Amino acid sequence: MVESTVFGDRRPQMQKYDVEVLRSWQETPTTHAVQVRKPKDFDFKPGQFAVVRVNTGDGEEARPLSIASSPLRDHLEFATKDSGSPFKETLHAMEPGETLSIQGPAGGFVYKEDENEPIIMLSGGIGITPLKSIIEYVVDKDIDREIDLAYSNSTREEIAFMDRLEELEEEHDNIHVDYFITREPHTGVPEEYKTGRIEARMLKKDRIWNEDAIYYICGPPQMVDSMVHMLEEEGIPDEQIRTEQFSGY
Ligand SMILES: Cc1cc2nc3c(=O)[nH]c(=O)nc-3n(C[C@H](O)[C@H](O)[C@H](O)COP(=O)(O)OP(=O)(O)OC[C@H]3O[C@@H](n4cnc5c(N)ncnc54)[C@H](O)[C@@H]3O)c2cc1C
Repeated sequence: MVESTVFGDRRPQMQKYDVEVLRSWQETPTTHAVQVRKPKDFDFKPGQFAVVRVNTGDGEEARPLSIASSPLRDHLEFATKDSGSPFKETLHAMEPGETLSIQGPAGGFVYKEDENEPIIMLSGGIGITPLKSIIEYVVDKDIDREIDLAYSNSTREEIAFMDRLEELEEEHDNIHVDYFITREPHTGVPEEYKTGRIEARMLKKDRIWNEDAIYYICGPPQMVDSMVHMLEEEGIPDEQIRTEQFSGY
């Protein structure tokens, strides 16, 4: 069975922390990011999430959000897609010095230290968050493991963390990123981007394919389901496929 476990193989101890907002910025026209100070005893695995809680004025609202930064850094990063919901409006309006609460960590969609097969990541939109945490961790720890990221977005301006990803790719020979753009006419898209959805044919053509790789897939449920289906049709064993679905989209 494909691994897809919000809480992993055991219920986590969801300890609660109040944390200070350090930075808050618009990452793309529809994506917002925040950095908060990491509590000293908040240990998490790359890929895990926390339940983020804010006070909207009409009461508390909480959402599970993947941590987008490496556990080896002294901050935690989150990024969310705008929707106009009271939770998002409140989170996006927060300024440095304010506090929000986090509970966690939790989740079984994690980087595993005892493996060394190449990793292929398939990401849709805001689904980049846990994958960015894993990539940053691998480079922070200087782990010599090949990672190929195929990152799909509707338009080029919607690619979240593109500067950071470009930097990671330039500075580390084992990190490779390919961008897929689904909603721009391909005549207007420069050659270094791929147009259309992520498909096995495209991945194979661009050598983002390895039958022995571990596949990490993250994005909206429909995208994750279609990627799993694609891999299964291509004969990739379920044990090599890990998924995180951002329910709510
Ligand atoms: C493991 C995991 C990691 C995720 N990581 C991210 C991430 O990194 N970035 C990101 O943008 N999104 C992430 N999500 C999705 C996120 O949790 C929200 O569901 C999504 O952002 C929509 O929230 P909203 O406030 O915009 O939408 P809304 O329309 O307000 O709500 C969307 C859904 O959430 C339900 N909901 C409403 N109130 C609550 C509540 N208090 N607690 C829980 N659910 C509620 C609603 O019934 C509705 O089905 C993740 C989801 C999961 C399960």
